[in-house]
Order: sequence, then C-alpha cells, then structure tokens
Amino acid sequence: MQAPTRPQTREELLVRAKALQAVTVLNAHLTDGERARIRMARISFSEKLTSCGGQCTGTDVELSGPLFDQPENQFDFDDTVLHELAHAAVRERGHNSHWKCVAWSIGCSGNVFHSMRTMKDVVKTPPVSMATRIAKMKLNNEALPHGAGRRV
Ligand SMILES: [Zn+2]
Repeated sequence: MQAPTRPQTREELLVRAKALQAVTVLNAHLTDGERARIRMARISFSEKLTSCGGQCTGTDVELSGPLFDQPENQFDFDDTVLHELAHAAVRERGHNSHWKCVAWSIGCSGNVFHSMRTMKDVVKTPPVSMATRIAKMKLNNEALPHGAGRRV
C-alpha cells in the first residue's frame, strides 16, 4: 500500500488497518485457519498502550492511540498492524519461527522492537529542532548524521 503523504487521523489509520487486514486475508501462503483468524481480528485503538505499538489477545488487535497520534510514529503503523495480525493468525504471543514465517509472508518486517517515540520520551525530551541538534553536535565536535543540515 502506498504511504500516506500527510499525518493520518485515528479514523483514517483504522481504515488503513482494515484495508491491510482485507489484503492479508487473501494471502495464498497462509493456511485456511490463519486466514480465518486474521479475518476475525477486531482492530481498535487503545489509550492504555503507551510504550508498545500494539498487542494481540486472541483475535483482538489493539493499537496504541497515543503513539500513533504522533505523526513521526505513523511510519511504523503498517508494520505494527501486520505484526499483530501475524500474532492473531498463529494464536501465539511469542515470536517463534512459525510467527516469523507468517509475519514475513504477509509483508511484515518481522521486527520485534520499534524505535517509535514513546510517551515516556515525550515527557522526558520535548521535541528539539534539527537546528538546535546540529548546533549542539557542532559544539561537541560530533560527526553530523547523513543528511543533517539540509533542511535547517
Ligand atoms: Zn509481537
């Protein structure tokens, strides 16, 4: 699916998640049971998830509302949905080889950890502008990251 060009509302993200679910249900690499469990998955947002992107209990897939309200985290949205749908398909919480096979076959990266900005980060470190970051790095004689300084 094509990446959105602007931050999405929760409503739009939910539509996107359901579209991913609908496409995943058609995946020929899955067993009938796996497809059926993905079809049955109920996807919703949760306010309680503030450090992980999502969780799956049975066929209930919950996605973090607070995390995905932050535009910079929305790049991880599709992968998180697919990650949780893979859990729904295999009915297991862990990330064993069965889960990985299903995850990869439906287009998930298979990553278990995310690098999203959590609510803890938001409280601890308010957003710092790129200009401030670069100025600090120059002050400390640190190497600038690739691309840094292009849009200061
Ligand atoms: Zn997982």
